[in-house]
Amino acid sequence: MPVVDTPIGQSPTDSAKENLWELSLKQLDLVARKIGLDPGIHKYLSYPKRTLIVSVPVRMDDGTVEVFEGYRVQHNLGRGPAKGGIRYHPDVTLDTVKALAFYMTLKCAVVNIPFGGAKGAVRCDPKKLSIGEIERMTRRYASEIGILIGPEKDIPAPDLNTNSQIMSWIMDTYSMNVGYSAPGVVTGKPLEIGGSLGRQEATGLGVIDVLEEVARRAGLDFKSFKVVIQGYGNVGASAAKFAAARGARVIAVSDIEGGIFASDGLDIGELDRHVARYKTVKGYPRGEFIANKDLLELPCDVLIPAALENQITSHNAGRIQAKMVVEAANGPTTSQADAILNERGIMLVPSILANAGGVTTSYFEWVQDIQAFFWEEEQIYGRLRQIMTKSTAEVWDLAQKEGVNLRMAAHMIAVSRVAAALKHRGIYP
Ligand code: NAD
Repeated sequence: MPVVDTPIGQSPTDSAKENLWELSLKQLDLVARKIGLDPGIHKYLSYPKRTLIVSVPVRMDDGTVEVFEGYRVQHNLGRGPAKGGIRYHPDVTLDTVKALAFYMTLKCAVVNIPFGGAKGAVRCDPKKLSIGEIERMTRRYASEIGILIGPEKDIPAPDLNTNSQIMSWIMDTYSMNVGYSAPGVVTGKPLEIGGSLGRQEATGLGVIDVLEEVARRAGLDFKSFKVVIQGYGNVGASAAKFAAARGARVIAVSDIEGGIFASDGLDIGELDRHVARYKTVKGYPRGEFIANKDLLELPCDVLIPAALENQITSHNAGRIQAKMVVEAANGPTTSQADAILNERGIMLVPSILANAGGVTTSYFEWVQDIQAFFWEEEQIYGRLRQIMTKSTAEVWDLAQKEGVNLRMAAHMIAVSRVAAALKHRGIYP
Protein backbone atom coordinates (compact mmCIF):
# COMPACT_ATOMS: atom_id res chain seq x y z
CA MET A 1 0.00 0.00 0.00
CA PRO A 2 1.52 3.35 -0.97
CA VAL A 3 2.22 5.66 1.92
CA VAL A 4 0.73 9.11 1.56
CA ASP A 5 1.63 11.99 3.83
CA THR A 6 -0.76 13.91 6.01
CA PRO A 7 -0.89 17.53 4.92
CA ILE A 8 -0.36 20.04 7.71
CA GLY A 9 -3.55 20.80 9.52
CA GLN A 10 -5.11 17.52 8.48
CA SER A 11 -5.77 15.13 11.29
CA PRO A 12 -3.75 11.88 11.41
CA THR A 13 -7.03 9.95 11.14
CA ASP A 14 -7.61 11.31 7.63
CA SER A 15 -7.34 8.74 4.88
CA ALA A 16 -4.15 10.43 3.63
CA LYS A 17 -2.31 9.67 6.87
CA GLU A 18 0.98 7.90 7.18
CA ASN A 19 0.31 4.99 9.46
CA LEU A 20 2.94 5.26 12.20
CA TRP A 21 2.97 1.51 12.86
CA GLU A 22 3.63 0.76 9.18
CA LEU A 23 6.37 3.41 9.25
CA SER A 24 8.00 1.82 12.28
CA LEU A 25 7.95 -1.62 10.61
CA LYS A 26 9.56 -0.12 7.49
CA GLN A 27 12.25 1.45 9.66
CA LEU A 28 12.77 -1.91 11.36
CA ASP A 29 13.18 -3.60 7.93
CA LEU A 30 15.81 -1.05 6.91
CA VAL A 31 17.83 -1.38 10.09
CA ALA A 32 17.49 -5.19 10.04
CA ARG A 33 19.05 -5.25 6.59
CA LYS A 34 21.82 -2.89 7.64
CA ILE A 35 22.86 -4.84 10.76
CA GLY A 36 22.11 -8.31 9.38
CA LEU A 37 19.49 -8.92 12.09
CA ASP A 38 18.60 -12.54 12.79
CA PRO A 39 15.34 -13.14 10.82
CA GLY A 40 13.69 -14.75 13.86
CA ILE A 41 14.38 -11.69 16.01
CA HIS A 42 13.25 -9.42 13.19
CA LYS A 43 9.92 -11.27 13.16
CA TYR A 44 9.77 -11.20 16.99
CA LEU A 45 10.14 -7.38 17.02
CA SER A 46 7.52 -6.94 14.30
CA TYR A 47 4.73 -7.76 16.78
CA PRO A 48 3.87 -6.11 20.08
CA LYS A 49 4.10 -8.54 22.99
CA ARG A 50 0.74 -7.52 24.49
CA THR A 51 -2.10 -5.35 23.20
CA LEU A 52 -4.92 -4.49 25.56
CA ILE A 53 -8.03 -2.61 24.39
CA VAL A 54 -10.36 -1.48 27.15
CA SER A 55 -13.65 0.36 27.23
CA VAL A 56 -13.77 3.11 29.80
CA PRO A 57 -17.30 4.00 30.91
CA VAL A 58 -17.56 7.38 32.62
CA ARG A 59 -20.47 8.99 34.45
CA MET A 60 -20.52 12.51 32.95
CA ASP A 61 -21.38 15.62 34.95
CA ASP A 62 -24.88 15.76 33.43
CA GLY A 63 -25.63 12.20 34.61
CA THR A 64 -25.27 10.50 31.19
CA VAL A 65 -22.72 7.77 30.51
CA GLU A 66 -19.98 8.03 27.89
CA VAL A 67 -17.70 5.17 26.90
CA PHE A 68 -14.14 5.93 25.77
CA GLU A 69 -11.75 3.48 24.15
CA GLY A 70 -8.42 2.99 25.91
CA TYR A 71 -5.27 1.06 25.05
CA ARG A 72 -2.11 -0.26 26.67
CA VAL A 73 0.46 -1.87 24.43
CA GLN A 74 3.68 -3.52 25.58
CA HIS A 75 5.98 -3.89 22.62
CA ASN A 76 8.96 -5.78 23.99
CA LEU A 77 10.16 -6.65 27.50
CA GLY A 78 13.52 -8.20 26.58
CA ARG A 79 15.55 -5.56 28.45
CA GLY A 80 13.29 -5.04 31.49
CA PRO A 81 9.85 -3.94 32.66
CA ALA A 82 7.69 -1.98 30.23
CA LYS A 83 7.93 1.81 30.25
CA GLY A 84 5.96 4.37 28.28
CA GLY A 85 3.60 7.32 28.50
CA ILE A 86 -0.15 7.66 28.37
CA ARG A 87 -1.77 10.13 26.00
CA TYR A 88 -5.27 11.53 25.82
CA HIS A 89 -6.11 12.55 22.26
CA PRO A 90 -9.18 12.44 20.01
CA ASP A 91 -7.20 11.11 17.01
CA VAL A 92 -5.23 8.36 18.72
CA THR A 93 -5.51 4.89 17.17
CA LEU A 94 -4.33 1.45 18.23
CA ASP A 95 -1.71 1.50 15.45
CA THR A 96 -0.31 4.81 16.75
CA VAL A 97 -0.03 3.32 20.24
CA LYS A 98 1.67 0.18 18.86
CA ALA A 99 4.20 2.34 17.01
CA LEU A 100 4.84 4.54 20.03
CA ALA A 101 5.39 1.41 22.15
CA PHE A 102 7.89 0.16 19.55
CA TYR A 103 9.72 3.51 19.67
CA MET A 104 9.83 3.22 23.48
CA THR A 105 11.58 -0.15 23.15
CA LEU A 106 14.18 1.52 20.93
CA LYS A 107 14.41 4.70 23.02
CA CYS A 108 15.15 2.84 26.26
CA ALA A 109 17.76 0.80 24.40
CA VAL A 110 19.49 3.76 22.74
CA VAL A 111 20.10 5.40 26.12
CA ASN A 112 20.76 1.97 27.64
CA ILE A 113 18.28 2.03 30.51
CA PRO A 114 16.83 -1.29 31.68
CA PHE A 115 13.30 -1.05 30.32
CA GLY A 116 11.21 -2.47 27.51
CA GLY A 117 8.76 -0.34 25.55
CA ALA A 118 5.07 0.37 26.13
CA LYS A 119 2.50 3.07 25.46
CA GLY A 120 -1.06 3.78 26.49
CA ALA A 121 -3.84 6.08 25.40
CA VAL A 122 -7.47 6.99 25.80
CA ARG A 123 -9.23 8.28 22.71
CA CYS A 124 -10.90 11.44 24.02
CA ASP A 125 -10.77 15.19 23.69
CA PRO A 126 -9.76 16.31 27.19
CA LYS A 127 -10.57 19.93 26.28
CA LYS A 128 -14.24 18.93 26.15
CA LEU A 129 -14.18 17.18 29.55
CA SER A 130 -14.51 18.70 33.01
CA ILE A 131 -11.81 18.04 35.57
CA GLY A 132 -14.15 15.64 37.40
CA GLU A 133 -14.84 13.72 34.18
CA ILE A 134 -11.10 13.49 33.46
CA GLU A 135 -10.48 12.16 36.99
CA ARG A 136 -13.20 9.51 36.71
CA MET A 137 -12.03 8.51 33.23
CA THR A 138 -8.41 8.28 34.43
CA ARG A 139 -9.29 6.18 37.47
CA ARG A 140 -11.43 3.77 35.46
CA TYR A 141 -8.77 3.49 32.73
CA ALA A 142 -6.09 2.87 35.40
CA SER A 143 -8.24 0.09 36.89
CA GLU A 144 -8.87 -1.45 33.47
CA ILE A 145 -5.16 -1.58 32.61
CA GLY A 146 -4.34 -2.61 36.21
CA ILE A 147 -3.88 -6.19 35.00
CA LEU A 148 -0.77 -5.05 33.12
CA ILE A 149 0.79 -2.21 35.11
CA GLY A 150 2.85 -2.36 38.30
CA PRO A 151 6.24 -1.18 39.58
CA GLU A 152 7.93 -4.39 38.39
CA LYS A 153 5.79 -4.90 35.30
CA ASP A 154 4.86 -1.77 33.42
CA ILE A 155 5.33 1.83 34.52
CA PRO A 156 3.31 4.56 32.72
CA ALA A 157 4.28 8.25 32.52
CA PRO A 158 2.82 11.48 31.09
CA ASP A 159 2.53 12.16 27.37
CA LEU A 160 0.31 14.40 25.24
CA ASN A 161 -2.44 15.99 27.37
CA THR A 162 -1.55 14.08 30.53
CA ASN A 163 0.39 15.49 33.46
CA SER A 164 1.45 14.98 37.08
CA GLN A 165 -2.15 15.26 38.33
CA ILE A 166 -3.22 12.41 36.07
CA MET A 167 -0.19 10.37 37.21
CA SER A 168 -1.26 11.02 40.83
CA TRP A 169 -4.74 9.62 40.13
CA ILE A 170 -3.24 6.55 38.44
CA MET A 171 -0.86 6.01 41.37
CA ASP A 172 -3.71 6.42 43.87
CA THR A 173 -6.11 4.15 41.95
CA TYR A 174 -3.50 1.41 41.60
CA SER A 175 -2.56 1.78 45.29
CA MET A 176 -6.22 1.54 46.37
CA ASN A 177 -6.66 -1.59 44.29
CA VAL A 178 -3.58 -3.38 45.68
CA GLY A 179 -4.10 -2.08 49.22
CA TYR A 180 -0.80 -0.28 49.81
CA SER A 181 0.96 2.80 48.42
CA ALA A 182 2.86 1.97 45.27
CA PRO A 183 4.64 5.15 44.10
CA GLY A 184 6.81 3.16 41.66
CA VAL A 185 3.81 2.31 39.45
CA VAL A 186 4.02 5.58 37.49
CA THR A 187 6.59 8.30 36.90
CA GLY A 188 6.06 12.00 36.37
CA LYS A 189 4.33 12.30 39.77
CA PRO A 190 4.37 15.35 42.04
CA LEU A 191 7.31 15.46 44.46
CA GLU A 192 5.06 14.95 47.49
CA ILE A 193 4.11 11.42 46.42
CA GLY A 194 7.45 10.13 45.17
CA GLY A 195 8.12 12.28 42.10
CA SER A 196 11.63 13.22 41.14
CA LEU A 197 13.18 16.64 41.08
CA GLY A 198 13.73 17.67 37.48
CA ARG A 199 11.24 15.23 35.88
CA GLN A 200 8.88 17.95 34.69
CA GLU A 201 11.56 19.62 32.60
CA ALA A 202 13.66 16.57 31.77
CA THR A 203 12.48 15.87 28.23
CA GLY A 204 13.07 19.44 27.03
CA LEU A 205 16.36 19.62 28.91
CA GLY A 206 17.48 16.34 27.33
CA VAL A 207 16.59 17.73 23.88
CA ILE A 208 18.97 20.62 24.52
CA ASP A 209 21.70 18.36 25.99
CA VAL A 210 21.54 16.30 22.78
CA LEU A 211 21.50 19.40 20.57
CA GLU A 212 24.54 20.84 22.33
CA GLU A 213 26.50 17.62 21.86
CA VAL A 214 25.50 17.36 18.19
CA ALA A 215 26.55 20.99 17.68
CA ARG A 216 29.88 20.31 19.36
CA ARG A 217 30.49 17.22 17.22
CA ALA A 218 29.48 19.06 14.04
CA GLY A 219 31.74 22.01 14.90
CA LEU A 220 28.79 24.43 15.18
CA ASP A 221 28.38 27.19 17.75
CA PHE A 222 25.29 26.48 19.88
CA LYS A 223 25.13 30.08 21.06
CA SER A 224 24.72 31.33 17.48
CA PHE A 225 21.65 29.15 16.85
CA LYS A 226 18.27 30.60 15.93
CA VAL A 227 15.74 28.07 17.19
CA VAL A 228 12.09 27.51 16.17
CA ILE A 229 9.85 25.29 18.29
CA GLN A 230 6.48 23.84 17.27
CA GLY A 231 4.39 22.94 20.35
CA TYR A 232 4.71 24.86 23.58
CA GLY A 233 3.65 22.20 26.06
CA ASN A 234 5.69 20.27 28.58
CA VAL A 235 8.49 19.43 26.14
CA GLY A 236 8.51 22.49 23.87
CA ALA A 237 8.39 25.04 26.69
CA SER A 238 11.24 23.47 28.64
CA ALA A 239 13.32 23.04 25.46
CA ALA A 240 12.78 26.78 24.84
CA LYS A 241 13.77 27.62 28.39
CA PHE A 242 17.03 25.66 28.33
CA ALA A 243 17.93 26.70 24.77
CA ALA A 244 17.60 30.34 25.78
CA ALA A 245 19.35 29.80 29.14
CA ARG A 246 22.35 28.30 27.33
CA GLY A 247 22.63 31.22 24.94
CA ALA A 248 20.68 30.26 21.79
CA ARG A 249 17.98 32.57 20.41
CA VAL A 250 14.43 31.15 20.34
CA ILE A 251 12.82 33.14 17.52
CA ALA A 252 9.42 31.43 17.19
CA VAL A 253 7.18 29.06 19.11
CA SER A 254 3.62 27.82 18.63
CA ASP A 255 0.83 25.83 20.18
CA ILE A 256 -2.41 24.51 18.77
CA GLU A 257 -3.85 28.05 18.64
CA GLY A 258 -1.01 29.44 16.48
CA GLY A 259 2.47 30.85 16.92
CA ILE A 260 4.51 33.94 17.66
CA PHE A 261 7.67 35.13 16.01
CA ALA A 262 10.33 37.68 17.03
CA SER A 263 13.46 37.80 14.87
CA ASP A 264 15.58 39.11 17.77
CA GLY A 265 14.52 36.26 20.01
CA LEU A 266 11.63 35.81 22.43
CA ASP A 267 11.93 36.57 26.14
CA ILE A 268 11.07 33.08 27.36
CA GLY A 269 10.50 34.07 31.02
CA GLU A 270 8.01 36.72 30.00
CA LEU A 271 6.37 34.38 27.49
CA ASP A 272 5.97 31.72 30.22
CA ARG A 273 4.16 34.26 32.40
CA HIS A 274 1.84 35.01 29.47
CA VAL A 275 1.19 31.27 28.95
CA ALA A 276 0.58 30.71 32.67
CA ARG A 277 -2.10 33.41 32.49
CA TYR A 278 -3.75 32.78 29.09
CA LYS A 279 -2.93 29.06 28.54
CA THR A 280 -1.61 29.84 25.03
CA VAL A 281 1.30 31.64 23.40
CA LYS A 282 -1.24 33.40 21.17
CA GLY A 283 -1.65 37.06 21.98
CA TYR A 284 1.85 37.43 23.44
CA PRO A 285 2.42 41.12 22.74
CA ARG A 286 6.17 41.17 21.98
CA GLY A 287 6.08 39.12 18.78
CA GLU A 288 4.18 38.78 15.51
CA PHE A 289 1.48 36.17 15.02
CA ILE A 290 2.56 33.29 12.77
CA ALA A 291 0.49 30.31 11.61
CA ASN A 292 1.78 26.85 12.50
CA LYS A 293 2.24 26.00 8.84
CA ASP A 294 4.47 29.05 8.28
CA LEU A 295 6.39 28.54 11.50
CA LEU A 296 7.71 25.19 10.26
CA GLU A 297 9.10 26.88 7.16
CA LEU A 298 10.89 29.79 8.86
CA PRO A 299 14.59 30.27 8.10
CA CYS A 300 16.47 29.15 11.23
CA ASP A 301 19.33 26.95 12.37
CA VAL A 302 17.30 24.46 14.38
CA LEU A 303 13.67 23.42 14.03
CA ILE A 304 12.30 21.50 17.01
CA PRO A 305 8.91 19.85 16.34
CA ALA A 306 7.57 19.28 19.88
CA ALA A 307 3.84 18.79 19.28
CA LEU A 308 2.73 15.57 17.62
CA GLU A 309 3.38 13.14 14.77
CA ASN A 310 3.11 13.74 10.99
CA GLN A 311 4.03 17.43 11.00
CA ILE A 312 6.93 17.45 8.52
CA THR A 313 5.55 15.76 5.43
CA SER A 314 6.27 15.48 1.71
CA HIS A 315 4.10 18.60 1.34
CA ASN A 316 6.38 20.90 3.34
CA ALA A 317 9.76 19.10 3.63
CA GLY A 318 11.00 20.80 0.46
CA ARG A 319 10.30 24.20 2.01
CA ILE A 320 11.89 23.60 5.43
CA GLN A 321 14.66 26.19 5.77
CA ALA A 322 16.17 24.92 9.04
CA LYS A 323 19.70 23.55 8.89
CA MET A 324 18.87 20.94 11.48
CA VAL A 325 15.67 19.24 12.72
CA VAL A 326 15.61 17.90 16.27
CA GLU A 327 12.62 15.62 16.81
CA ALA A 328 11.37 16.40 20.31
CA ALA A 329 7.94 14.96 19.45
CA ASN A 330 7.52 11.29 18.61
CA GLY A 331 7.26 10.58 14.87
CA PRO A 332 6.91 14.21 13.67
CA THR A 333 8.57 13.43 10.30
CA THR A 334 6.97 11.11 7.76
CA SER A 335 9.18 8.68 5.84
CA GLN A 336 8.83 10.65 2.60
CA ALA A 337 9.74 13.86 4.40
CA ASP A 338 12.66 12.09 6.04
CA ALA A 339 14.02 11.14 2.60
CA ILE A 340 13.55 14.71 1.30
CA LEU A 341 15.36 16.27 4.29
CA ASN A 342 18.14 13.73 3.93
CA GLU A 343 18.55 14.51 0.22
CA ARG A 344 18.61 18.22 1.00
CA GLY A 345 21.43 17.69 3.51
CA ILE A 346 19.33 18.79 6.49
CA MET A 347 20.63 16.99 9.55
CA LEU A 348 17.92 15.25 11.59
CA VAL A 349 18.28 14.14 15.21
CA PRO A 350 15.76 11.29 15.65
CA SER A 351 13.13 11.23 18.37
CA ILE A 352 14.37 8.03 20.00
CA LEU A 353 17.52 9.94 20.95
CA ALA A 354 16.33 13.56 21.05
CA ASN A 355 13.46 13.10 23.51
CA ALA A 356 14.93 10.25 25.57
CA GLY A 357 15.69 12.64 28.46
CA GLY A 358 12.11 12.13 29.64
CA VAL A 359 12.31 8.37 29.99
CA THR A 360 15.83 8.62 31.42
CA THR A 361 14.63 10.85 34.25
CA SER A 362 11.58 8.60 34.63
CA TYR A 363 14.09 5.81 35.17
CA PHE A 364 15.75 7.94 37.89
CA GLU A 365 12.33 8.53 39.49
CA TRP A 366 11.52 4.81 39.47
CA VAL A 367 14.93 3.94 40.96
CA GLN A 368 14.37 6.54 43.72
CA ASP A 369 10.85 5.20 44.41
CA ILE A 370 11.86 1.57 44.70
CA GLN A 371 14.82 2.49 46.94
CA ALA A 372 12.74 5.12 48.83
CA PHE A 373 15.84 7.28 48.69
CA PHE A 374 15.75 10.60 46.86
CA TRP A 375 18.44 12.53 45.02
CA GLU A 376 19.25 16.22 44.74
CA GLU A 377 18.39 18.07 41.52
CA GLU A 378 22.07 18.56 40.78
CA GLN A 379 22.64 14.78 40.75
CA ILE A 380 19.65 14.26 38.48
CA TYR A 381 20.66 16.90 35.94
CA GLY A 382 24.29 15.71 36.07
CA ARG A 383 23.36 12.06 35.48
CA LEU A 384 20.89 13.04 32.75
CA ARG A 385 23.50 15.07 30.94
CA GLN A 386 26.01 12.24 31.22
CA ILE A 387 23.60 9.72 29.67
CA MET A 388 22.34 12.07 26.94
CA THR A 389 25.86 13.16 25.96
CA LYS A 390 27.23 9.61 25.94
CA SER A 391 24.30 8.27 23.90
CA THR A 392 24.58 11.14 21.41
CA ALA A 393 28.30 10.51 21.05
CA GLU A 394 27.69 6.78 20.41
CA VAL A 395 25.09 7.58 17.74
CA TRP A 396 27.28 10.25 16.15
CA ASP A 397 30.33 7.98 16.05
CA LEU A 398 28.42 5.07 14.52
CA ALA A 399 26.89 7.39 11.90
CA GLN A 400 30.39 8.54 10.95
CA LYS A 401 31.81 5.04 10.93
CA GLU A 402 29.00 3.51 8.85
CA GLY A 403 28.31 6.55 6.66
CA VAL A 404 24.64 6.60 7.68
CA ASN A 405 22.41 9.37 9.03
CA LEU A 406 21.70 9.83 12.74
CA ARG A 407 18.30 8.13 12.57
CA MET A 408 19.76 4.98 11.06
CA ALA A 409 22.67 5.00 13.53
CA ALA A 410 20.35 5.40 16.55
CA HIS A 411 18.09 2.61 15.30
CA MET A 412 21.10 0.35 14.63
CA ILE A 413 22.35 0.77 18.20
CA ALA A 414 18.90 0.29 19.72
CA VAL A 415 17.88 -2.74 17.68
CA SER A 416 21.27 -4.39 18.25
CA ARG A 417 20.90 -3.97 22.04
CA VAL A 418 17.36 -5.37 22.07
CA ALA A 419 18.41 -8.23 19.79
CA ALA A 420 21.35 -9.08 22.08
CA ALA A 421 19.00 -9.24 25.10
CA LEU A 422 16.56 -11.49 23.24
CA LYS A 423 19.39 -13.76 22.08
CA HIS A 424 20.63 -14.17 25.67
CA ARG A 425 17.15 -14.92 26.96
CA GLY A 426 16.12 -17.22 24.11
CA ILE A 427 12.56 -17.95 23.09
CA TYR A 428 10.38 -19.45 25.81
CA PRO A 429 9.76 -22.37 26.18
P1 NAD B 1 1.77 18.64 25.84
O1 NAD B 1 0.35 18.22 25.72
O2 NAD B 1 2.29 19.15 27.13
O3 NAD B 1 2.10 19.77 24.73
C1 NAD B 1 1.80 19.65 23.37
C2 NAD B 1 1.88 21.03 22.75
O4 NAD B 1 1.69 20.94 21.35
C3 NAD B 1 0.81 22.00 23.26
O5 NAD B 1 1.36 23.30 23.35
C4 NAD B 1 -0.23 21.96 22.13
O6 NAD B 1 -1.03 23.16 22.07
C5 NAD B 1 0.69 21.86 20.94
N1 NAD B 1 0.04 21.35 19.74
C6 NAD B 1 -0.85 20.35 19.62
N2 NAD B 1 -1.21 20.22 18.33
C7 NAD B 1 -0.52 21.16 17.63
C8 NAD B 1 -0.46 21.51 16.26
N3 NAD B 1 -1.20 20.89 15.35
N4 NAD B 1 0.39 22.51 15.92
C9 NAD B 1 1.14 23.16 16.85
N5 NAD B 1 1.11 22.86 18.15
C10 NAD B 1 0.28 21.87 18.53
O7 NAD B 1 2.61 17.38 25.32
P2 NAD B 1 4.13 17.05 25.60
O8 NAD B 1 4.19 16.15 26.77
O9 NAD B 1 4.92 18.29 25.55
O10 NAD B 1 4.46 16.14 24.32
C11 NAD B 1 4.80 16.70 23.06
C12 NAD B 1 5.44 15.62 22.20
O11 NAD B 1 6.62 15.14 22.86
C13 NAD B 1 4.58 14.39 21.93
O12 NAD B 1 4.89 13.89 20.64
C14 NAD B 1 5.06 13.40 22.96
O13 NAD B 1 4.83 12.06 22.57
C15 NAD B 1 6.53 13.73 23.01
N6 NAD B 1 7.22 13.33 24.24
C16 NAD B 1 6.82 13.80 25.44
C17 NAD B 1 7.54 13.44 26.58
C18 NAD B 1 7.21 13.99 27.95
O14 NAD B 1 7.99 13.76 28.88
N7 NAD B 1 6.13 14.72 28.12
C19 NAD B 1 8.63 12.56 26.49
C20 NAD B 1 9.01 12.10 25.22
C21 NAD B 1 8.28 12.50 24.11
